[in-house]
Amino acid sequence: MNCPTDIVRLFFALIPPVEVRRELSQRQRQMNLQARPVAEDLFHITLVFLGEVERLRLPAVLSIGSGFSLTGCTLLLDRLGCFEKARVAWLGPFKPTAELVSFQERLVSALAAKGFSPDEKPWKPHVTLYRDLRKPCSTMRVKPVGWRVESFSLVQSTLTKAGPVYRVLDEWAARD
Ligand code: ATP
Ligand code: MG
Repeated sequence: MNCPTDIVRLFFALIPPVEVRRELSQRQRQMNLQARPVAEDLFHITLVFLGEVERLRLPAVLSIGSGFSLTGCTLLLDRLGCFEKARVAWLGPFKPTAELVSFQERLVSALAAKGFSPDEKPWKPHVTLYRDLRKPCSTMRVKPVGWRVESFSLVQSTLTKAGPVYRVLDEWAARD
């Protein structure tokens, strides 16, 4: 039988640098939605959610990450949106860079090819800023938050009663 420590909950993500985190936090405050604000140290864009993986397979996941090379790019987070069912509000790009979209697709394929079960739904890059939204908000164009993407990370998420705790297991720098 698996004990909980044999299993890790994993996702690949883009983690904003501190200045972007601050800007996002400021936007979050300005939005003032009727919902629960996400703590700024949890801000991220999920690239691929892997879900629960046996700890034994962690080296294989890390090795897939190491085999990838991300080209640095600038994302413009210019869209406020919400996922009605999940009751979250977020900022994301209307148009993610083609390179990043291709990177995300290749990462999903590489993980699937190695027998992992990545979330294969079409990627909707977003930073969740609010959870438990009381009522849906409509999509809006907002003044862009510019984010120079310089790395991607593998993150472990531990769900606790006090909310998720994220731990970056590895980070790979982008090349210019
Ligand atoms: P909580 O679930 O307690 O609200 P969380 O969603 O921040 O916290 P996780 O559920 O571990 O933490 O998810 C980590 C990241 O992966 C989040 O960005 C989440 O939106 C995304 N994610 C979680 N489940 C899925 C899924 N089934 N498909 C796609 N992305 C997912
Ligand atoms: Mg979740």
